[in-house]
Amino acid sequence: SICNHTMLFARAMADYWPQQDPAIPCADAGLPFQKGDILQIVDQSDSLWWQARKVSDLSRCAGLIPSNHLLKRRSMRLCRRKTQNSQSSFYSRCPTSCYHTVGAPYEEVVRYQRRPCDRHRLIILIGPSGVGVNELRKQLIDLNPLVFQSPIPHTTRQKKTYEENGREYFFVSKETFESMVYSHSFLEYGEYNGHMYGTNVESIKAVLDAGMICIVDLEPQGITGARTHELKPYIIFVKPPSKSCMRETRKNAFIITDYYVNMKFKEEDLQEIEESAKKMEAQFSQFFDQIVVNDNLQSATVQLMSIIHRAQDEPQWIPASWIC
Ligand code: 5GP
Repeated sequence: SICNHTMLFARAMADYWPQQDPAIPCADAGLPFQKGDILQIVDQSDSLWWQARKVSDLSRCAGLIPSNHLLKRRSMRLCRRKTQNSQSSFYSRCPTSCYHTVGAPYEEVVRYQRRPCDRHRLIILIGPSGVGVNELRKQLIDLNPLVFQSPIPHTTRQKKTYEENGREYFFVSKETFESMVYSHSFLEYGEYNGHMYGTNVESIKAVLDAGMICIVDLEPQGITGARTHELKPYIIFVKPPSKSCMRETRKNAFIITDYYVNMKFKEEDLQEIEESAKKMEAQFSQFFDQIVVNDNLQSATVQLMSIIHRAQDEPQWIPASWIC
């Protein structure tokens, strides 16, 4: 069973503050961590309290962390008492729902070094609408079209005369699109102007099979479906800079999204970008491999390029379940 399984390294799926955990045998001996941290589990002989170190700070002594088994037990207890307030600070800071959606409290991880013969890792860009994810993706591809590509989406809209099936889009009937939805072919799909658009796993694999680095911008809800051993996604969160920086850098910029076409950024838009980014981080930051602040398109593009190359060439932590 998972309780008896020896984990060497684990990714934390929630924050933990030992000082606020009334059950810890000795709070001073606890190891505080944040979700997304990679932990080296150095002792799991006790079924309730493990000893661990943060991989980012191996010079520090190991500290106590609640075991997988203990967290699962707490989570189950919390489920039963859904309406009551939790006594456990571990969970009071983290909505129970995040445990139910991601499953285990820790995700076992291993160090992965891509060999030259392996497919590239899928690069997923995530960020709030208006932060410039699409612009960054396009910029990367424009600068290096032989290295970076995005998958070709499917759509139900009519082909325009200058378009070619399989180049801009795969043009399909509504029925075909719907059957693809039912067979879970799409990583994400949406409606625009009365037509359906979606990105399927096969078109991502086609880019990877061609030896290129595939870049997609995805709604965060698509993360779970994309985290497979086949795609081994490396997830980059595109974060907005401070509002004053956005005011400065985006004062002459236009919002081009599904809802506002060619409208200048207003104060409310900046507020919305900031709030939406915070929500995304609260819910999904445990899955972010890297964060890039899009203070301006040029410097963010340069940063992204080096992050993406490192993600392909240097060892990275990936779920152990992706290696089998
Ligand atoms: P167009 O029909 O002008 O080529 O694209 C219009 C819009 O369709 C785009 O701006 C974008 O919002 C949406 N779109 C294009 N491809 C995709 C896709 O793969 N998924 C989703 N959800 N929307 C897409």
